[in-house]
Amino acid sequence: MSTVIDITSVGRASVDVHGHTYKLSPVERRLINKLGGAPWTIDQATPEVVSEAWAVWTALSRAAGYASASRWFTDHVTSPKLGKAGIPTVGVTLHAARSAGDAWKAADSDFRAKIAAALNCTETDLDTALGVSFCPMATMGCIAGCVTNCSYHASLDQTQKTRLLRDAFFMMRPDLALALTADQLRRTVAKAGGKDKARWRVNISDDIRWEVVAPGLLDVAPLGYTYTKWLPEERPAIEGLSIVYSANERWTDTDIVDACDAGHRVAVVFDVPKKKLPTEWNQTPVADGDSTDDLYEHPAGVIVGLAVKGRTGEIKEAMARTGFARAA
Ligand code: SF4
Repeated sequence: MSTVIDITSVGRASVDVHGHTYKLSPVERRLINKLGGAPWTIDQATPEVVSEAWAVWTALSRAAGYASASRWFTDHVTSPKLGKAGIPTVGVTLHAARSAGDAWKAADSDFRAKIAAALNCTETDLDTALGVSFCPMATMGCIAGCVTNCSYHASLDQTQKTRLLRDAFFMMRPDLALALTADQLRRTVAKAGGKDKARWRVNISDDIRWEVVAPGLLDVAPLGYTYTKWLPEERPAIEGLSIVYSANERWTDTDIVDACDAGHRVAVVFDVPKKKLPTEWNQTPVADGDSTDDLYEHPAGVIVGLAVKGRTGEIKEAMARTGFARAA
């Protein structure tokens, strides 16, 4: 019996970029290995590659039953959340945590066969590639309350399907998916009139350190921002990327205060109704994170407060029970 080796799961364990050494998570390692073993740089987004990227994305969209290419970006018009930034804002919406793998498993056989064919790979390749977590640092608490993390049944609705196409495109052809992202970021900056006139939400529903996998995107992107579950030492802020660290149930109250004292901004979910956020918590100022998605609005050293959200009372209750949502 032969042993099947998944060659995308081996390779570099860390990369050096932005003056830091980053230990790679499984999803980041797979992406970088697929890119040939090195982080993606902007010189790879040649007009020919961008053109090929659009052609493959269009073919993938058609394979999924769409008449033309699906939207690549979520923006301030299509997303009320991004619209709260009050400035043109864009990003790519993927599936959170392990939802891509769940969605792929739930897809019907005809859909799976067509998507694999459009990506010139096998369904087994996609089983493996999509079997990783897109949120390497996710916890039970954040998954329980994550608005983008849903359960899947036999059929996929349009939003879930389009996210799955993007997930598959990134995991099988990151060279093309990144060229497409760079092309769209360039257009966003050109339309807005400058890098500081728009925003790039680096992670909308994943927690991949794209600045590590693809530092070249920062060369053409508007000012970037993100919420992340990585710790400050694992995902330091860099020029062009503003980061808010999201406290989860593993953070103690002291961890939060200490991180703010060190000049970081920390997102904390409070178990309070909407518009009832405290203005101070444990002698640390609380900025209203529900009022804007533009993290450049919040000064260093503050808690970015968020009122607990959830489609059902059970979800909110689970967030409080796990300690993810804290008493104000
Ligand atoms: S890390 Fe963020 S996006 Fe991922 S499951 Fe947790 S809350 Fe959702």
